[in-house]
Amino acid sequence: MNPGIETTQLKDIVAHAKEYGFVFQSSEIYDGLAAVYDYGPNGVELKNNLKRLWWEAMTQLHGNVVGLDAAIFMEPRTWVASGHVAGFNDPMIDNLDSKKRYRADVLLEEKAAEYENAGDPARGAALTAEMGRLLTENDLAGVKELIIRENIKCAVSGTCKWTDVRQFNLMFSTQGSAVDSDAPPVYLRPETAQGIFVNFLNVQKSARMKIPFGIAQIGKAFRNEIVARQFIFRMREFEQMEMQFFVRPGTEGEWYDTWKAARRRFHEAIGLPASKLRFHDHDKLAHYAKAAVDIEFEFPFGFKEIEGIHSRSDFDLTQHQELSRKKQQYFDNDVDPATGKPYGNYVPYVVETSVGADRLFLATLCEAFQEETITEGEGEAQQTKTRTFLKLHPAVAPIKAAIFPLVRKDGMPEKAQEIFDALRFDFRVVTEERDAIGKRYTRQDLIGTPFCIVVDGQTLEDDTVTVRHRDSREQTRMPISELRTYIGEAVSFRRVFEKL
Ligand code: ATP
Repeated sequence: MNPGIETTQLKDIVAHAKEYGFVFQSSEIYDGLAAVYDYGPNGVELKNNLKRLWWEAMTQLHGNVVGLDAAIFMEPRTWVASGHVAGFNDPMIDNLDSKKRYRADVLLEEKAAEYENAGDPARGAALTAEMGRLLTENDLAGVKELIIRENIKCAVSGTCKWTDVRQFNLMFSTQGSAVDSDAPPVYLRPETAQGIFVNFLNVQKSARMKIPFGIAQIGKAFRNEIVARQFIFRMREFEQMEMQFFVRPGTEGEWYDTWKAARRRFHEAIGLPASKLRFHDHDKLAHYAKAAVDIEFEFPFGFKEIEGIHSRSDFDLTQHQELSRKKQQYFDNDVDPATGKPYGNYVPYVVETSVGADRLFLATLCEAFQEETITEGEGEAQQTKTRTFLKLHPAVAPIKAAIFPLVRKDGMPEKAQEIFDALRFDFRVVTEERDAIGKRYTRQDLIGTPFCIVVDGQTLEDDTVTVRHRDSREQTRMPISELRTYIGEAVSFRRVFEKL
C-alpha cells in the first residue's frame, strides 16, 4: 500500500467533513484541543441516525433488551472494582531524539501488519503473539527489547533511541466535592459498561427481566489517549454504544457467537461492505475477558477496530459484589434437566457488545465518500468533471429530500413550500431557491441527500414533480401525492432491520 495515497484520502474526508458541516475541530478558534471534536449540523443528524438505528436494533428488535442512561460520574470505588484504577493502562514509549510519544503495542502491531502486507503473515502473527505474551506478563523490559530487536524506528527522527516502556493510566479525573477538598477525585467514566453493571439488579427487578436479557446504553466516555490521531478514530472524549447481555454460566459461548454474528450483520445492513469488515481475535485479553474479538473496518489507513465483542464472565458483577458487599445474584427458577431442580442463585455471566458511535460515523463517512468522473452537456459544450457525493444509506442521510422550484417565479416557490410543509412532519427536508438547478443538486450530493424534488411548469398543471436520485443522477416523474410513501419506503429503518 502506498502511504501517500492513504493519508490523502483521509485528508480529503477530514476536509469534506469540515466544509460541509459534519465535523469540526473542538475550540478551533483557539487552534483546537487535541483529539476532541464537535459535530456540525449535518454531522449531528448523521450521528443521531446511527445511534437511533443501534438503539432500536437493540431495544426494539429484541424483546429481552432494555435501555439505560447512567451518569458519567460514578462512585470512585466503581473503578477500583472494575480494575480500571490498577489496570487501565497503555504501555508508552518515547523516542529520545524526537521526543515523540508512542504506544509500544501499536508500534509492534504496525510492524506485524507490515509483515502481513509484505506477504509474510506467519512472521506477523508470531510477532503479535510474542507481544501478547509479554504484555500479559507485564514484561515491559521485554516489550522494549522486542521493539529494538524488530528495529522499529521513530517516524519523525528515524532513530531507534527509545526510553523504557512505562504504563500510563488513561482515566481522567476531576475534583469530587465542592466542599471537601480531601474528597477523593471522581473519574470521568472510561467506558459506559460499569453504569450498566452497577444497575444490573435495579433494571432486572424493575423491568422484571428474565435471564438471558440485555441492557443497552449510549453515552460519553473519556480516555486520556497517549497517541490521539486519525481524526475522530481516537478521541479523548467519545461516545460508546454498549450492550451487556446477562446469561446463565455455561451458555456464554453460544451467546458470544450469536452476538458476534448479529453485530457484523448490523454493520453490513447500514452499508459497510462485507469485503471491508473482518473479525480480529484479541491476542492480549483485557483483565476482564475470557474471549474477545474486534470487528474491524478497512479505513483509508487500514483495517481498524470499530466494535469489540467480549465474553466477560462474571468478573464485573463479582467484583462489585465484593467491594460493595451487596449481592449481585439472580434467582433462576428454570429447571436444570441434569438435576431436575431449578438452577437457583448465581452471578450471571456477561457477553458485551461495544461499538464507538464516532468510529461507526467515520466508517460510514469513509465508505460513503465517492468521487466519480462524469460527462455533462452535449456537442461543443460537453465537459468531463469529477462529481463528489456521499453515498449514504438513505436511512442515515442527514437530509432526506431537498425541494427546489425550478425558477423563482410563476408560483413555483409557493408550490415547493407547500410540498415542504406536507413532508416535514415525516422527514427532514429542505427547500432551496438560490443558484442554477445543477449547483443545487451538487450541494445536496455533497451532504448525501438521497432525493431532490423539482417543481417545474408541468407541476403547476398536473401536480407531478421530478425526483432526482443521488447515486444514479436519474430523474423520474411522479405525482406529489406519492412522494411521502416513496421517500418513506427508501429512508425507513425497516430497510436496515429486515437485513438483521
Ligand atoms: P483501541 O484498541 O482502539 O484503543 P479498545 O479496544 O480500547 O480500542 P474498547 O475498550 O473495546 O476499545 O471500546 C469499545 C469501542 O469504543 C471501540 O471498539 C471503539 O469503537 C470505541 N472507542 C474506544 N476508544 C475510543 C477512542 N479513544 N475514540 C473513539 N472511540 C473509541
